Amino acid sequence: MRYFDHCIHFAGGGSQQIPAGKVVCVGLNYSDHIKEMNSQVASEPVIFLKPSSALVPLEAPVAIPVEFGSCHHEGEMSILIGEQLADCTEAEAAEAIIGVGVALDLTLRDLQSQFKQKGLPWDKAKGFDGACPASAFVDRSQVGDLQNLELRLTLNGEVKQASNTSHMITPVLALIAYISKFFTLMPGDIVLTGTPAGVGPLSPGDELTLELVDVVAVTTTVVAR
Ligand code: ZN
Repeated sequence: MRYFDHCIHFAGGGSQQIPAGKVVCVGLNYSDHIKEMNSQVASEPVIFLKPSSALVPLEAPVAIPVEFGSCHHEGEMSILIGEQLADCTEAEAAEAIIGVGVALDLTLRDLQSQFKQKGLPWDKAKGFDGACPASAFVDRSQVGDLQNLELRLTLNGEVKQASNTSHMITPVLALIAYISKFFTLMPGDIVLTGTPAGVGPLSPGDELTLELVDVVAVTTTVVAR
């Protein structure tokens, strides 16, 4: 289960030959999720990486590891970067966004909790193979205000996560500018923008729909890896 041919795919079949790059994620970017995790609002964005080997198509069945404890869904808006960005301004960030989609920041929650308690890095909990099922991207020009989109995750017919991107603590452009102070973003890199409340465990056999309303909706099933 790897990311097709490891190229970025656009909705409607338009496939640009951009190799998929790294995935840069932000933790704790919606206050209701901070509350459910019993965490504090951080003074600066909490950034972490998933390697490109974590990317798999969301449209295919989502294969979760079953030998490492619970694997949680975190439904997120994903942003595709089309230009190199290093220490960029928000205006430069805006120019560089070429696609918008949805992705799951799959998290081995039991492992992550153990690592957090011990003060160890989370990488294995969030960067394992298949940890980032991502939708095809919708061209940026087809999407309106990135900070006013409804994000929804439905599991077995029950809405588990529902929020609006207006509730992000660090909005998309500020987030990209912040990330680019530490990590140069390259064409094909993907930014995950954080998850709202309602995260929870997945099980083989689940049916999951992740959508940015009026932009992209993907229904997929969960299987054991
Ligand atoms: Zn996340």
